Amino acid sequence: MKIGVLGAGQLGQMLALSGYPLSNRFSFFDTTGSPSAEIGETLCDPSGDQLESFLSQVDLVTYEFEHLPLDLVKRVAERKALYPGVEALRVCQNREAEKALFDRLNIPVAAYRVVESAEQLAQACQVLMQQGAAAVVAKSITEGYDGKGQAVLKDPSEAETAWQQIGHSRLIVEAFVDFVREVSIIAVRGRQGDVVFYPLAENHHAEGILRYSLAPLPDVTDAVQHQAEAYIHKLLDSLDYVGVLTLELFQCADGRLLANEMAPRVHNSGHWTQNGSITSQFENHLRAIQGLPLGSTKALKPTCMINIIGQMGDTQHILALEGVHLHLYGKSERSGRKLGHINVVADDLTSLIKQVRLVSQHLPNAPEPKFTCVAV
Ligand code: AMP
Repeated sequence: MKIGVLGAGQLGQMLALSGYPLSNRFSFFDTTGSPSAEIGETLCDPSGDQLESFLSQVDLVTYEFEHLPLDLVKRVAERKALYPGVEALRVCQNREAEKALFDRLNIPVAAYRVVESAEQLAQACQVLMQQGAAAVVAKSITEGYDGKGQAVLKDPSEAETAWQQIGHSRLIVEAFVDFVREVSIIAVRGRQGDVVFYPLAENHHAEGILRYSLAPLPDVTDAVQHQAEAYIHKLLDSLDYVGVLTLELFQCADGRLLANEMAPRVHNSGHWTQNGSITSQFENHLRAIQGLPLGSTKALKPTCMINIIGQMGDTQHILALEGVHLHLYGKSERSGRKLGHINVVADDLTSLIKQVRLVSQHLPNAPEPKFTCVAV
């Protein structure tokens, strides 16, 4: 089976790495002009002129990147089986459409407003703060990722500056959630509607970029895990989704989960599954889109994923530590760039945190690893 992947970054590369044992071969289509996947064939074509030639080489198509031109993706779907479909991508490209879907499915989110000017932003900020928000987060409706296109406002008087800084004509303004922690759930839906769920992961960001994901979490009750599963299941079914879907959530002090956003693809917060679970998110995505039985999502051991951001760090020393798996993406160093990640696997949580601390000492600018599920 020759699989066509729209996007050619590290996620595509890791999909291919897990697909070779399934006898899959890969062809990537890059629209950004800077592909990084170094496995299979890559067609770099920002104009989309060579789409036909790409499609003629593949049996089915998936995507590993959501900032794709929707017209191009529609052209793909007219010619080949595309999993997940166009609608999932359309919704995930637009925070307003995403929030509307959450609302329609009764999936709770932070209180929000849509605004189209600095004045409306100031008004929305005032209303949300009157309703009890200590601050608000303004986000561009399209094109935001890794915290880009966002501003936190502590007072309506900051609206003009935030509006200029974000530089978009339509924004979502959300109440700032005083969450206990950020978690994500990854689920996989097969072509027959069969669904499996991974355990929730706890995620830590710095400057909007994910730094650590830890799973499984000893302090997640069955009720909370099932609640997250119920939310993502509704999303999967309503989109008639095939493949891996990720839902990022805020967990509040009372245990409540509020949906933040979703990603229609394999996700950085699921990289732990490569070494910490029976079947990785990458393999399960490939199984799903090919109509194969889905693999077990059971966690093998406590696992923590650590991102390598900007600078490579001392990988020699890191590799010498016990329980460490290094995954590099073949990219050169640049501030804020994801260069690779490390999965640390241990027999118990205490040993895991000890190893994670040791690894972080060899990574320049790594924030101190702190997790709510572990007493410091
Ligand atoms: P997003 O691009 O929506 O995932 O936002 C990036 C990060 O900003 C999230 O992972 C949170 O750490 C933070 N953030 C976003 N929205 C909110 C919110 N409403 N309340 C508190 N923090 C937020």
